[in-house]
Amino acid sequence: MTRTSSISGLLGALLGLCFGLAGSANAQQKPPAAAPAAVLKPLVATDGEITVSADGTMISVMLAAVVPYKLDVMAKPDRVVVDLPEVNFQLTPDFGKKPAGLIKSARFGLFAAGRSRIVIELASPALPTATVQEVLGGAAFRLNIALKPATAEAFAKAVQASPPAEKLVAAPPPPIVTDQRSLIVLDPGHGGIDFGAVGIGQTQEKDVVLAFARELKAKLEDTGRYRVALTRDGDVFVPLGERVKIAQRAGAALFISIHADTLAAAPDVRGFTVYTGSEKASDADAARLAEAENLSDQIAGVETDDDPDEIAGILGDLTLRETRTYSHLFARTLVGQMSGGGSKANKNPHRSARFRVLRAPDVPSVLLELGYLSSKTDAEMMKNPAWRDQTTSAIVTAVNDFMGPRLTAGEGGQRR
Ligand SMILES: [Zn+2]
Repeated sequence: MTRTSSISGLLGALLGLCFGLAGSANAQQKPPAAAPAAVLKPLVATDGEITVSADGTMISVMLAAVVPYKLDVMAKPDRVVVDLPEVNFQLTPDFGKKPAGLIKSARFGLFAAGRSRIVIELASPALPTATVQEVLGGAAFRLNIALKPATAEAFAKAVQASPPAEKLVAAPPPPIVTDQRSLIVLDPGHGGIDFGAVGIGQTQEKDVVLAFARELKAKLEDTGRYRVALTRDGDVFVPLGERVKIAQRAGAALFISIHADTLAAAPDVRGFTVYTGSEKASDADAARLAEAENLSDQIAGVETDDDPDEIAGILGDLTLRETRTYSHLFARTLVGQMSGGGSKANKNPHRSARFRVLRAPDVPSVLLELGYLSSKTDAEMMKNPAWRDQTTSAIVTAVNDFMGPRLTAGEGGQRR
């Protein structure tokens, strides 16, 4: 029997733990004689291994206890997705990042509250099976995901048999706010299983941009003029459409998505760039970047959200055009203040492309690439507190310049 898709299994037993995933328990292993009494903290996964052999490729991690899991296969790009309860992955930073056998790359991380995920991108069609192996005399367990080569037809069939990629449930509406100050939404890119660009010294974009966004939030709040919200305040995955909706639902006056780029082929390229949303990209590099940033949902294995163009149609072309004018105005202000504040600008520091995260028709939005993690200078700079201090100050000045006319226009801090 080979089970190819949507295989659920209970690897041994975590007493009383029901992970709530569909499918029958597929006990491939007898429960350990003495199951751990209570697991309060997320399980730690260590010691990742990838083994390439004549009949396939095996990826495995060591866990302190056994966990329920679920396997799925997805296409475009071809992937194997392993769902787990929350697991704290303590693997070497480069583990899974290089191609090996049937694996193009593998990612590990938090997917949603209390849930972790392994996403294995395939180099060629392959089908997975999972087993658990008791090691260290029962003190630990290895979760082994074995990949066997498959024909394109067999893989396509397994994808069809898999349940559709899930949509993460939207967060509840925000609480009623009595504070009338304008809301600035900061959006640290990526998170959780989607670590974004990886640069020199295995620096991950998701960590750099979260640290930066937190500092920027504190500085904006210090002005006393704004409420400030983050789309994520931890190492967690948030779908692109959800980021846009967080800003829309809360009636944000401004949305700033924060990222860091990488261009491995050109380690000398550096500097910040501010992007605005547009149907047509300003240049080929901007189009390439938007395509890469837009892959976030696919990387995490969720269905891409509703097409924001539909919402734009309802709200009307005029709203969208007005919003885009404001977005351009803020982008120009931001480029001016950051350059003036001593930050090195990329060649053509204001560009535009079709970024999914910049498609709220009613919230002025920009995407700021702080620099290039592939540049040694930029990568070091982004970790430098003095640079962060200077850059966040320049951004606060740009926000003040942009918001100022609106705040004094007697709108009482209402949106725009
Ligand atoms: Zn990014």
